[in-house]
Amino acid sequence: MAFTTRRSALAALVGSVCTRAQAPAHPDVAIIGAGSAGLNAARRLHELGRSTVVLEARDRIGGRAFTETATFGIPFDRGCAWLHKADDNPYAQLAREWGFTLFEHNNHLDGLWLGGRRATDAERSRQTEEEAKLDAVMTKRGKQGKDRSGESWLKRRGLVEDAVATFHGPMSSAVDLDELSTTAYLDIGTDVEPNLLIKEGYGALVARYGRDVPVQLNTPVRAVRYSGQDVALDTPNGTVRARACIVTSSTGVLAAEKIRFDPILPDWKRDAIAGIPMGLLAKIPLQFQSSGLFGLNDFDDLLRKQRGKRDIYFLSFPFHLPLMVGFVGGDFAWELSAAGEAEAIDYALTHLRHMFGAEAGKHFSKGSFTQWAGDPWALGAYATPTPGNGHQREALRRTVAGRVYFAGEACAPRWTQTCGGAALSGRETAEAIHKALGA
Ligand SMILES: Cc1cc2nc3c(=O)[nH]c(=O)nc-3n(C[C@H](O)[C@H](O)[C@H](O)COP(=O)(O)OP(=O)(O)OC[C@H]3O[C@@H](n4cnc5c(N)ncnc54)[C@H](O)[C@@H]3O)c2cc1C
Repeated sequence: MAFTTRRSALAALVGSVCTRAQAPAHPDVAIIGAGSAGLNAARRLHELGRSTVVLEARDRIGGRAFTETATFGIPFDRGCAWLHKADDNPYAQLAREWGFTLFEHNNHLDGLWLGGRRATDAERSRQTEEEAKLDAVMTKRGKQGKDRSGESWLKRRGLVEDAVATFHGPMSSAVDLDELSTTAYLDIGTDVEPNLLIKEGYGALVARYGRDVPVQLNTPVRAVRYSGQDVALDTPNGTVRARACIVTSSTGVLAAEKIRFDPILPDWKRDAIAGIPMGLLAKIPLQFQSSGLFGLNDFDDLLRKQRGKRDIYFLSFPFHLPLMVGFVGGDFAWELSAAGEAEAIDYALTHLRHMFGAEAGKHFSKGSFTQWAGDPWALGAYATPTPGNGHQREALRRTVAGRVYFAGEACAPRWTQTCGGAALSGRETAEAIHKALGA
């Protein structure tokens, strides 16, 4: 979807106000999922004069955009936190309009630890050079259509190169570099700045955007039957019939066959789902008695690299809140998720002790761990094509039988993997359905 100006972007996103109305008995479009993609699809369809029903498995809207205050008594984003591409991303305009507290935070690493020590200035310079080299070669190979793993382009010589691999692989793309395809790298785009952090939470912003959209909560769709003229969606609360549907479930949910399609989805669609599996990024937020500890500034970001793939990234004291948020990604994140919350908290704290001494433990009060790996309605953080499967994104987006549409971060026309990309995907899909349904 082309957002021509900031003003038009804002108008497009908030153009019509939906009200919580009685769901129509036979809507034009049934939407599976009330995450960023589903909410944007619903609002766009309303703007276009189409009736919709949104069916959501959870007891809340927002999906992987989720801010909660229950754990620490302050807002914490369990899912998306950085609002990427703030100059174009329409959520940025809404955040400003609605008075959210914003801070520009681009990830350039304020501190790098290599094993037990801080990197030297020479190592930091080499890190920057290696990053530029990796970016150049990934971009070039991607544009040449050489859809190979990132690992094949990075000449690893030591911890500095390993740190670059960690930053571009698990921390950015939620997969290790050897599972990141060059085509996926191009799709995601390294140029996601400016990035904004939101004090009240990105999830809170998405929830505000969707608060007037009529949604049937606690309504998991178990089956999509589409052999007739229309579609029929089976839920524990009954069957919804519509002229078309939009499936916004993650590729993890689709691959786990939590929705039964009748007839079974064609091979090309199932290959696309299998070719773009979920990666994992997990957060380990640690609450301290105060902010401003360990000589760190608010918003400092740190990476601790050690041998192997068990690296950790920290965002320090965002908005002067007493939180250090640890991040692990890729294979290690799956491993730690299987080990559980206590292990994860202990892991993150141990790193802080190694970096800042015993003081780190003294001031600690409470930790948590995001469990998107086991979340039945996500089954991972976001999707990344495996090397050789970059071309499958087009098939993932393609409609089945002219009435089963697919949208979401994995289908995004731009900014794949992100909340803003999911919004674009929802809106574009809504426009495509509107056109296809005709008068
Ligand atoms: C830890 C983490 C960190 C992230 N960091 C960032 C970041 O900093 N910036 C950024 O832009 N993005 C980030 N993301 C990614 C971002 O959160 C997602 O790309 C985006 O929210 C996905 O939106 P979506 O609508 O495609 O999917 P979802 O948000 O998953 O929405 C799909 C909805 O469908 C529902 N659903 C699924 N199956 C069914 C069914 N059968 N019946 C009914 N309902 C169903 C789900 O419950 C869900 O609510 C992060 C994600 C994670 C997990």
